[in-house]
Order: sequence, then structure tokens, then C-alpha cells
Amino acid sequence: MTSTYLPELRRATRRTSGAPGARPAQPWPGEARCAVAITVDMDGDGNEAGIGEAPLGIHSMGRYAARRGVPRFLDMFQRHGIPATFFIPGYDCKQSPDLIRRIAAEGHEVGSHGYMHEGFMMSDEEEERRLRLTHDLISDAIGKAPRGWRSPYGQKTRHTMKVLKSMGYIYDSSDKDTDTPYLFAPHDAPGAMVEIPNNTPILSDTSWYQDARTAPSDVEREWCAEFDSVYGGHGFFILTFHPRPGFGSGMPARANVIDRLLQHIKSHADVAFVTLEQVAEHVLAGAEAFEELAI
Ligand SMILES: [Zn+2]
Repeated sequence: MTSTYLPELRRATRRTSGAPGARPAQPWPGEARCAVAITVDMDGDGNEAGIGEAPLGIHSMGRYAARRGVPRFLDMFQRHGIPATFFIPGYDCKQSPDLIRRIAAEGHEVGSHGYMHEGFMMSDEEEERRLRLTHDLISDAIGKAPRGWRSPYGQKTRHTMKVLKSMGYIYDSSDKDTDTPYLFAPHDAPGAMVEIPNNTPILSDTSWYQDARTAPSDVEREWCAEFDSVYGGHGFFILTFHPRPGFGSGMPARANVIDRLLQHIKSHADVAFVTLEQVAEHVLAGAEAFEELAI
């Protein structure tokens, strides 16, 4: 099997050995050796608006995401012929509905990412209002309800999952607790959801560029090494990028790191590029092969 966009998934029916270096413990979509999920957290000027900053001057970097970063990523993904999953704050959807429609029209998944990228704690009622507002804004913009959610700043509560489940969400991608997707039972809600962990300290651009000020060439070497380890091991590789300058990969030299990483990944046999919705559907369909937690 060659690296490919995977239009539909087959039901997983077997559990294989999880010995290090062996075939993955969980069969991945299409029974690929390695599933690769490219995710983008838009983080537009809702980030600034959410903390009361006028999006001007030094606080205008969020606008770069809509004007340059997202279009640059879309062109790159189209060139590579791969799907990605974009997590969009409701405020950013309201600011740039045509761009969000372009993301969906080009075959990518659109998920929710807070309203104004709020990371602070709030009442259950206010949290639910913002979750539903964002859900409606995205649904109205693209004509399809989002089925996945990623928490801004990685914060969520039991209440969050219950509300999302009631709106038809099938997965969350916020936790950092393991390498591979798993099922969980949301508190006080019927049925299971899927957690798709994203280990942002390593597998996101922010910690490298904002916290450590690492050179793009070093980031490229690190991510290629992470992919090689996953390819030889459990076979599920997820990355998170931001289309901003500053802490993101929106500007040309950093976007080129992603471009070369995709070339590196595609040079390996038996790799499937997948959206997180595809991963979640795959896990739900083959639940017997996946770990389940009660949360
Ligand atoms: Zn974010």
C-alpha cells in the first residue's frame, strides 16, 4: 500500500500484538501501518479579542492566520493531496466565513475550538452558551455540523463533554495522556466518545517556537525523528500547527518545515493521511480493539 488520502474507512475487526516494533496494537484505518493526522488550530484574532485586546499593532497577529497562514496551509495540503482537520474558534468563523467554507470545500474537516479561545474557567451555563454558539456558527457557515472539538489551552470539564455529546460530537482531541486514540464514557451522558490525544509539548509548533525559540531546522529534525519512531512502533502520528506568526508556523520558512516533513512522511510505504473524524469513526466501529476509560 502506498501513502494515500483515505476516502472511507473499513471496520477494524482484529487485535494484533503490541510488541515494540511490531505491527500496531490497533489496526488503523484501511489497515495502514501508520495513520497520520495533520491538525490546524486556527487561533485567529479571536485569541486577542477574547482577552480584551484590540487586534491592532503587535496584537494583530491573529489576522495573519486568516490572511496568509490558512491560505498557505491550504495550498500546501492541496499540493500534497492530503486532508487535514482544522479547529476553528466561533469568533474566527464569524470573521472569516468564506475562508472556513474554502477549508470545507477543499475536503478538510472543520471542528470547534472554543468561541474566543477562552481558557479561563466559567459557569456551566456560560460554557454551554459558548459551545452551542460556536457549534451553530460553524454549522451555518459550512452546512455541516462539526463532530470534533479541541479545547483552547487544553482545558475542559466533565460538563464540556456532556454538552458536546448532546450536540452530536463523537470525539475530543485535547488530552495529553497517551499516544493513541481511546474510547471514554462521558460523565452523566449515555454512550461512548473517542479521545484523540495531541501531545502538544512535542507534536505542536507552539512549544518549539514560542517557549523554546527553536530554529526551524531543529524542529524539522525533531518531528522527522518522532515520525520515524511512531512508524516503527504504534503507528499513530498526530501533529498540531497554527497558521500564525509568533508561536505558529504560518510564515514561509516555518511552513516549509511542514512541507518537507510531509515529503518525508510520504516517502514511507503504507501510510494513510486521515482526518480526526475518520479516526473517531474507525475507533467507534472497532471498539473491541481499543481501550475504554470512564471519565
Ligand atoms: Zn488554539
